[in-house]
Amino acid sequence: MLSELYKRLQSCSLCPRRCGVDRTRGERGFCGGGMLPRVASFHPHFGEEDILSGFRGSGTIFFSGCNMACVYCQNYTISHFREGMEITVEDLAEIMLTLEKRGCHNINLVTPTHFTPQIFDALALARKRGLSIPLVYNTSGYEDIEVLRSLRGLVDIYLPDMRYSLEESAIRYSQAPRYPEVCREAIREMFAQVGNVVLDREGVARRGLIVRILIIPSLEREAKESLRFLATEISRDVYVTLLRQYRPVYRAQDFPEIARFVSDRVYQDVLEYGKSLGLHNFILQ
Ligand code: SF4
Repeated sequence: MLSELYKRLQSCSLCPRRCGVDRTRGERGFCGGGMLPRVASFHPHFGEEDILSGFRGSGTIFFSGCNMACVYCQNYTISHFREGMEITVEDLAEIMLTLEKRGCHNINLVTPTHFTPQIFDALALARKRGLSIPLVYNTSGYEDIEVLRSLRGLVDIYLPDMRYSLEESAIRYSQAPRYPEVCREAIREMFAQVGNVVLDREGVARRGLIVRILIIPSLEREAKESLRFLATEISRDVYVTLLRQYRPVYRAQDFPEIARFVSDRVYQDVLEYGKSLGLHNFILQ
């Protein structure tokens, strides 16, 4: 599996963009990723969903760069300006072990897609050295389906975003053609691999799918459409995080329709719609 993933770097097809650049020879594609994983920070995170942060924190590792280009990115200094430094696969394994030693409930890979081979190489090393906590794959949802299939059995918790239901929005705000269909196919595969959330005795997730829906101003209908997809095609028991943390940062000011905050009324309206579909495992944050 790993050699197949590494082979994809020669004409990069790790994600749906299929840039075709040879990352083994120093070429860089849309995401800016090279041969070594680039990490912005790592630490126990207490601001994730309660079922991930628990009481000792979620062991987040923030990867630099991104295969999306969201004009409102809340982490734009890491994703667009690529703050961070390149480290070796051995160092990445060491970071995972350090986070477990610090008591974290899980390893939470933030924006891992463009470094999948290097991350799962590091994971194998860390598992050999005793890493035992669950792995969280925290992604924008713009995933190559074959790459995802190869992760079966390695990821315990999938944490994808569902950003858009209309391709024109995905192109306008994230330069992500085919995002709605790509993301839905990815979520079907994730659910097939890990199913609904299973909690341990302390109420912390050990396994399962948690879908994040960021409510973006003017796009609340698309959020509702994502909820409808989850209720009708995945499961009414699926865990859904409704995020109200949208802020009009980075280039959002260039798009007047999203250059504002989301109102309480809109947030409640989307939540009530989800409940009316029979969804009941909401996390509100
Ligand atoms: S991972 Fe990066 S270089 Fe590879 S196809 Fe995706 S955006 Fe392009």
